[in-house]
Amino acid sequence: MSDTQPRLHLHDSRTRNTVPFVPLAPDNVRVYYCGPTVYDLAHIGNLRAMLTADVLVRLLRHLYPRVTYVRNITDVDDKINARAHANGESIADLTARTIRDFHEDLAAVSILPPDVEPRATHHIGEMQDMIARLIETGHAYEAEGHVLFAVASYSSYGALSGRTPDDLIAGARVEVAPYKRDPGDFVLWKPSDDQTPGWDSPWGRGRPGWHIECSAMSQRYLGESFDIHGGGSDLLFPHHENERAQSMCCHPHGHFANHWVHNAMLLVNGEKMSKSLGNFLTVRDVLRDTPAEALRLLLLRAQYRSVLNFTHEGLNEARQMLDRFYRALENLDPMQDAVPAPDNVVQVLCDDLNTPRALAEMHALADAAMAGDSLAAARLKAAGNLLGLLQDTPEAWFRGGAKVDPARIESLIAERLAARRARDFARADEIRNDLAAQGILLEDGPQGTTWRQA
Ligand SMILES: [Zn+2]
Repeated sequence: MSDTQPRLHLHDSRTRNTVPFVPLAPDNVRVYYCGPTVYDLAHIGNLRAMLTADVLVRLLRHLYPRVTYVRNITDVDDKINARAHANGESIADLTARTIRDFHEDLAAVSILPPDVEPRATHHIGEMQDMIARLIETGHAYEAEGHVLFAVASYSSYGALSGRTPDDLIAGARVEVAPYKRDPGDFVLWKPSDDQTPGWDSPWGRGRPGWHIECSAMSQRYLGESFDIHGGGSDLLFPHHENERAQSMCCHPHGHFANHWVHNAMLLVNGEKMSKSLGNFLTVRDVLRDTPAEALRLLLLRAQYRSVLNFTHEGLNEARQMLDRFYRALENLDPMQDAVPAPDNVVQVLCDDLNTPRALAEMHALADAAMAGDSLAAARLKAAGNLLGLLQDTPEAWFRGGAKVDPARIESLIAERLAARRARDFARADEIRNDLAAQGILLEDGPQGTTWRQA
């Protein structure tokens, strides 16, 4: 990192402070994010976490020569077993389809893939090694085919989420079971019957608990200590607290994650998203009638630690903002070389990923570009690249939002041209006016007739 570059400050959930980010090894910044449990389509709350990671990793790549970003896939889970059974399909088919859909949805909103995307079922050996070590060191115990982590064995338990053991029990987020020594103890390994996926182990045929997966996969790809661990705030407790307890007890001289990043939740029309309220939105639901960049921009309009309220009005506003940015990009001089991301945009992103301020800087660049400053247009494009926005050409953007089938528009343009050649100007005007009524504007030029969305 050069001296002139702004210094990244990030909020750290563990210390509950915004602090300078200091990588353990500046030549390889290491980041772990909890990925999806693959039994259903990604919803827009999931998307917010994946997008926060994407913006963070894009910024880190801008600031540092190398970033290793690991995001796992949880492909063994009781929710997967139950869904496959309900659908009457195999677990392998369900998980393969869900992973494919997840990748497609993220690519649609320009979320870049991680460097490593480990699957839990490919790392059972590493999980068993960790569990064995936790038993050896007195942090875990076997009971009735289960292996449980003993929370009382780790004095810092609760330090990440700020909860005391009493809160944990009062919150009733723990499953009470007769074989647990303490109600807060959580499962590292559990028995599988013949109908359930399972692997042989020293504790009998079974499958891992969810938390141990991330401890094992982060250690495998990033080491005992790495820079940033992130996820949605719903993962802070118990998932991240438990991951940390397992990893710190296995490697008492490591730090596990140095820095914890959690994004706030997403509301839909002011309420928590839930299937019973009828406001549950998958990424696909939103993208059915909205350009993907508008969804991406809507999510970036709130800083990641603020609660974000998703509304259709907000989505329309995001789309109008993009119309304005693309209008400004029409002033991009094709001879203008690409420029680096503007310092002022990088600077505000380095302030704990302040995306709303970055968008305000982009509006200022758009103003200048629309006043004829082509360098400002190039800088706007570069800022868009850093944020994963403005990835279309203006022409493609203004066409892409069309509700009318492009092939149908082209055939009407051809029909209008034929009408004009036949001097049937009434028909030619009728076609133009009909398209205008549907929001499609025709523009006659020396190269023929083109169209764009109003
Ligand atoms: Zn995790």
